Amino acid sequence: MAIAIEKSPHELRVLAIHAHPDDVEFQCAGTLAILRRLGCHVTIATMTAGDGGSAELSASEISAVRRREARASADLLGADYVCLELCDLRIDVSEDSRRRVTEAVRKARPDLVLTAPPADYLSDHEMTSRLVRDAAFNASVRNFDTRDPAPAPLLGAVPHLYYVDTLEGVDIFGHPVLPDFYVDVSATFETKKAMLACHESQRRWLSAQHGIDEYLESMERWSRHRGREIGVEHAEAFRQHRGHAYPRRNLLLALTAGARERPAIPAARATA
Ligand SMILES: [Zn+2]
Repeated sequence: MAIAIEKSPHELRVLAIHAHPDDVEFQCAGTLAILRRLGCHVTIATMTAGDGGSAELSASEISAVRRREARASADLLGADYVCLELCDLRIDVSEDSRRRVTEAVRKARPDLVLTAPPADYLSDHEMTSRLVRDAAFNASVRNFDTRDPAPAPLLGAVPHLYYVDTLEGVDIFGHPVLPDFYVDVSATFETKKAMLACHESQRRWLSAQHGIDEYLESMERWSRHRGREIGVEHAEAFRQHRGHAYPRRNLLLALTAGARERPAIPAARATA
């Protein structure tokens, strides 16, 4: 069913916010590239600078490297990049983190928010999901004070909220997580791959462990897997948060022309 889009794509703002530098690239960069081609403004945000992502460099050294990598990736897309400066493996739902995430949402002023799934293999991802879900609501609440020295105005409405895939498309029990819908990213896959390749420090680290370019190859395997489920070359899968107070119409599905709702018999279950 066609859904009317009230704003033109040029007026729409998108915030993709996940835990670590490279999570957005793995799970939704192809979709972000489609939204950029449509003219949407995109901000990529990470909760941490990836301070745990090295066996050799100190936390501050690897953070500096990974901030540069994340910014280079965002530059390829023509997106803004912000880091919320929390720490790897220590993201928690606290008063401080709630304030930071709410302020980041207010500053990005999104119509659509793409974030981590509620249940995933890593606590940082689950905490991020919870914080972003709450911030999407809190951002329009007048008396939620972020104590930022230069606070952004309140949001006018709760943005459309989407969860990206879990790692390997399974929950913590190994059961498949069924997407609500897919976005065909075949046309933007090379941009997604180039963005992920910007995270050179992580790519080298994994290559040293596996002896192959597992970083890019695992991403490509997964996007082909999601693509096969809807009969295209590459796809990304999403679920929409449809709880009370959050918009329920599927703006992301309406915007992405190649997007598909979940097939009646999910291929993920048939091939698991
Ligand atoms: Zn992560």
